[in-house]
Amino acid sequence: MNVNKKVLVSGASIAGPTLAFWLVKYGFDVTIVERSKSLRLGGQNLDVRGAGRAITRMMGIEKDILAANTGEIGLQFVNSNNKVEAAFPRDGAGSFTSEAEILRGDLVNILYNCTKDNVKYVFGTYITAIYQDDNNVKVTFNDGKKEVFDLLIAADGVRSATRQLIFGNGPEIKFVGLYNAWYTIQKKETDTKWARWYTAPGSRVMLIRPDNHGTTRASFSFLSADKGYHKLSNSEQKKILKEKLSGAGWEAERLMEEIEKNDDVYFDGISQVRAPRWFNGCTGMIGDAAYCPTPLTGMGATLAIVGAYLLAGELSRHHKHEDAFAAYEKRMRPFVEDVQRLPPGVPWLAHPKSKLGVSVVNTVAGILASRAVKKISKLFSGKDKDVTKDEIELPDFKPA
Ligand SMILES: Cc1cc2nc3c(=O)[nH]c(=O)nc-3n(C[C@H](O)[C@H](O)[C@H](O)COP(=O)(O)OP(=O)(O)OC[C@H]3O[C@@H](n4cnc5c(N)ncnc54)[C@H](O)[C@@H]3O)c2cc1C
Repeated sequence: MNVNKKVLVSGASIAGPTLAFWLVKYGFDVTIVERSKSLRLGGQNLDVRGAGRAITRMMGIEKDILAANTGEIGLQFVNSNNKVEAAFPRDGAGSFTSEAEILRGDLVNILYNCTKDNVKYVFGTYITAIYQDDNNVKVTFNDGKKEVFDLLIAADGVRSATRQLIFGNGPEIKFVGLYNAWYTIQKKETDTKWARWYTAPGSRVMLIRPDNHGTTRASFSFLSADKGYHKLSNSEQKKILKEKLSGAGWEAERLMEEIEKNDDVYFDGISQVRAPRWFNGCTGMIGDAAYCPTPLTGMGATLAIVGAYLLAGELSRHHKHEDAFAAYEKRMRPFVEDVQRLPPGVPWLAHPKSKLGVSVVNTVAGILASRAVKKISKLFSGKDKDVTKDEIELPDFKPA
């Protein structure tokens, strides 16, 4: 029924290639455009959990995901002298480190490799205009080329420009009061298989994590009002980051030096996307573009994978795309709303302003670690089964 139905997907990260994988299985003809000249492989660890993990099993890539484990053995809270205040081993109660801990770039690569033979990927390309009627959507690309598709799905992340073309300013981008930068740094002898978390006064947190590529992954976050930093150029962003890191202690000098060496620093205001509608005619959106839950939930990749699987499945079942979109939304929306509910105190609790606040964080972490209380993730993020559900019923959509 869907043979030769042409679908254009915008964004080659997690949501886009997963959607393409399943659409191709159901007989669709899929093209993915990616704005970058090649896959963007930056970032730290992502979790693939619950229903998301089950889908990767069905796709035959779970073993690749487990094989690409970063090797992290747990999380240590350290003070400015790198003394361990609290430790949460991977296999302990309430661990921060999950079994399927994979670098974002490795997951993107795995998804690309399992789709590249059956999906047309076009890099360095993005959509500049769309015009749709009841039957199809006419798309103009940045090189001036035009093409007609039956459907267009935006999977191009929290700052999706395609979303803007489809819905205008309708969807709300809700900033949660936290900025975060992720980047790759050179490995040093002091880097171990432990992730190290350092809380600095001034509502700043550094997190240094091991990877399986011979390098190390750094994250730096700080509380702030919305300053629109995401609109700045790379060099302006690096300047801001260095200013914010200045005087933070611990490995701040190292992170400041490494910023200059890095050409893929991912820096953004942590925001949720709340959209009253995910579809409009022949067009729509999935993943972070539609319902970014924030990295604080640890559920961005899982939501992207689940959303892609369900949307492709509903499109395979329904003759009319409007019916498929409605069926998808009915399944997916309650799941998204549940995941997007951040627990009280996140992200402020983990980003204290004063030195006293910092010592309180370390003391609390120490108490939790010593009692092996299953609440560590709950305190510092939404990353806990009690807080966000990672399960949703996954229908078995049989290929036609
Ligand atoms: C470089 C990078 C690093 C990240 N690092 C982390 C991290 O360390 N931890 C974490 O929790 N989350 C991180 N994220 C976010 C995380 O990948 C997502 O939350 C989640 O996996 C959902 O994926 P997604 O496919 O919906 O969106 P994203 O992963 O955001 O991917 C969107 C894709 O669309 C592309 N794109 C953007 N605009 C356009 C356009 N106009 N046309 C075509 N393509 C476009 C982007 O280049 C990207 O490849 C990162 C995202 C990126 C892009």
